[in-house]
Amino acid sequence: MNPLLTIDGLTAGYGALAVLHGIAFSIDPGQTTVLLGANGAGKTTTLRAICGMTWRRGRIVFDGRDLAASRTEKIAGAGIAHVPQGRGTFSDFSVEENLALGAYLRNDKASIQEDIQRWYELFPRLAERRSQAAGSLSGGEQQMLAIARALMSRPRLLLLDEPSLGLAPLVTKELFACLSRLREELALTMLIVEQNANLALEFADQCHVLERGRLVTSGRAADMRANDEVRRAYLGY
Ligand code: ATP
Repeated sequence: MNPLLTIDGLTAGYGALAVLHGIAFSIDPGQTTVLLGANGAGKTTTLRAICGMTWRRGRIVFDGRDLAASRTEKIAGAGIAHVPQGRGTFSDFSVEENLALGAYLRNDKASIQEDIQRWYELFPRLAERRSQAAGSLSGGEQQMLAIARALMSRPRLLLLDEPSLGLAPLVTKELFACLSRLREELALTMLIVEQNANLALEFADQCHVLERGRLVTSGRAADMRANDEVRRAYLGY
């Protein structure tokens, strides 16, 4: 099986600052990969580099195409959707308007409506609040909306930046249950940045640990959870 995404020798940053220093990993179709690491290690920057939101050198091969020189819109069009930290929904727009905006690269009106109904089934709380302004939703509902909106572009790879940030434990649990369903129903490939290492390792197949812009440990999530040394050194628990 060919990987869906291969990153090789990726160096990326902002202005004169290089944040990532030659990182490499790949993700197979249908797999969930989690990026862990301390604050400032470069996790968010990795997702942003994949989406073309930083300068970058190296290879970012998605489904056989090198996107390292491509612009954000082309990368989205190729099938990569990004749910940034802080969610980035349009707070004055309704839930339904936000979902419709997620389909901005599509012009198949009938199937856009079908998709909206589909995400309402997966996230019933959004269905109940379809006319409500996104800004008035709870944190958990906003995160669900951000994910549903990203799905409106029918991505093959979903990048999620700290989906549990600021959410109560029960809401986080509900959110990850939805992500599990998505993974089963769509065979969706995901790359997740998550502060909650325990939760992330339970959910993911593969794990990479970043330290000051370099990958220091990689492996199967189950193995990482079982390895006391790795846990103490990199995961802080
Ligand atoms: P956190 O968990 O705190 O979000 P992170 O691992 O996601 O950490 P990044 O957000 O990728 O880390 O940040 C890595 C480094 O890049 C930090 O030193 C940060 O200050 C710097 N950085 C991030 N965004 C910018 C920016 N827009 N301009 C300049 N430097 C930035």
